[in-house]
Amino acid sequence: MNRRWPNEAGAAAAPASGAPGADEGALWPEDEIRLESVEAALASEGYAEILYQASYKSARFWCEREARTGPLSGIALLEHYLSRLSRHGWGRFRVIEADAATGCADIQLDCSPFVLAQGEVCSAKTCCRFAGWFAGIMDWICESRGRTIRTVCHETQCGADGYDRCIFAVRPRASN
Ligand SMILES: [Zn+2]
Repeated sequence: MNRRWPNEAGAAAAPASGAPGADEGALWPEDEIRLESVEAALASEGYAEILYQASYKSARFWCEREARTGPLSGIALLEHYLSRLSRHGWGRFRVIEADAATGCADIQLDCSPFVLAQGEVCSAKTCCRFAGWFAGIMDWICESRGRTIRTVCHETQCGADGYDRCIFAVRPRASN
């Protein structure tokens, strides 16, 4: 089934609450509360950087724990993380391609709750707040292979900007 994004529906107005409707998927109550808190706080540009760094650290912590207690390693860890995000209602994530040897990954996101909440086209990369997680995971994966590649992640296209899905690119930092 092709899902129509709110911005493709023409005159669709933004939901009054700013939150996705009940038919938009499996947002858990605690996720909705967290989502609204993040939305409000991200009004500040400086907070976006703080959130990126916090997400980066939390993803690394998650990798440490998963690698210690489970059988996964390498890109399989990234795929497992994305499947958990998807199950928790943060949209449908998928690895397009990823290479632990180079620190490069492209990740797609369908049905981002941030895009659905946006309700109309805007030029911002609305879901950029996911980016810190992916850079943190890739750095950890590279380190676990004995490489000290430092990566950065950007949302390179966003459903809120008229695209049919969001894409995140993880790439090595120029300073490597
Ligand atoms: Zn997006």
